[in-house]
Amino acid sequence: MKIGFIGLGNMGAPMAANLVKAGHQVTGFDTAGVTVDGVVTADTAEAAASGQDVVITMLPNGAILRAVAAQVIPAMDKGAVLLDCSTVDVDSARAVADQATSAGCSALDAPVSGGVGGATNGTLTFMVGGPEAAFETARPLFDIMGQKAVHCGDAGAGQSAKICNNMILGVTMIATCEAFALADKLGLDRQKMFDVVSTSSGYSWTMNAYCPAPGVGPTTPADNGYKPGFAAELMLKDLGLSQQAAEAVDADTPMGAAALALYRQFVEDEDGRGMDFSAMLPRFEKRGRG
Ligand code: NAD
Repeated sequence: MKIGFIGLGNMGAPMAANLVKAGHQVTGFDTAGVTVDGVVTADTAEAAASGQDVVITMLPNGAILRAVAAQVIPAMDKGAVLLDCSTVDVDSARAVADQATSAGCSALDAPVSGGVGGATNGTLTFMVGGPEAAFETARPLFDIMGQKAVHCGDAGAGQSAKICNNMILGVTMIATCEAFALADKLGLDRQKMFDVVSTSSGYSWTMNAYCPAPGVGPTTPADNGYKPGFAAELMLKDLGLSQQAAEAVDADTPMGAAALALYRQFVEDEDGRGMDFSAMLPRFEKRGRG
């Protein structure tokens, strides 16, 4: 397949590299001038997009996606698929899909879970919104870049799934961290806490697979000085997207709102910037109730 790839950052570069390794012809563009072995570098986003079967975008946010889409959709061949893998707001995903459809192309919103490790190892999970036919066109690419792709529904459904998942993730990480900090103050050994909770009704991905306590459970960013991993700033971004969506549809999400407020305080007023999102544990350790 002929593929354009726009946004070759921490996630995009290894995803594009995996497509090249699988034998696809990939032309890339990134405003920061990033190059990737085996990816032909284009001078502009339009040049990367024209004449391709699929154009993949992996960009920081919805405003940038909208700007890039306005540039590249007119340059794309009729019938080509715009496959956006960024995490953006649902409205931007739907606006870009409408624009692609009006231009005789189709679009999929396909945000990912799995982080840089998943992008490098080709084990991402894709949550996909958009037409079935476009999903089938992109399926072989999902199989290379990931281990699972779920077609969630129409345009925006992929982003909806992503922000709901990450709202659960942010809330459970906070719950896991505050429970560890409480257990510490009650004099409970952290290993015993893990042994009980990881096999009891308090178990979760954040406890069992991404334990925020160093030296306990599997190896995680906690064992590496809380270097990300999944940065607290990215969790803040995703919790902001879920609250924006909740407001738009009048959904009551008090735990998501509380998680957003805590991550905002952690990143903007405390020492959370540049730390993994599990560094909420040392944050709670340092604090009392006041
Ligand atoms: P990143 O900042 O490393 O990469 C974004 C790239 O886009 C940069 O290289 C930047 O130069 C480029 N870019 C910005 N504006 C551009 C433009 N107008 N035209 C072309 N290129 C442009 O970010 P990342 O970590 O790769 O994340 C990308 C997306 O994936 C984000 O939406 C993020 O929320 C999502 N995501 C990230 C992770 C993660 O662990 N890093 C996990 C899941 C999802």
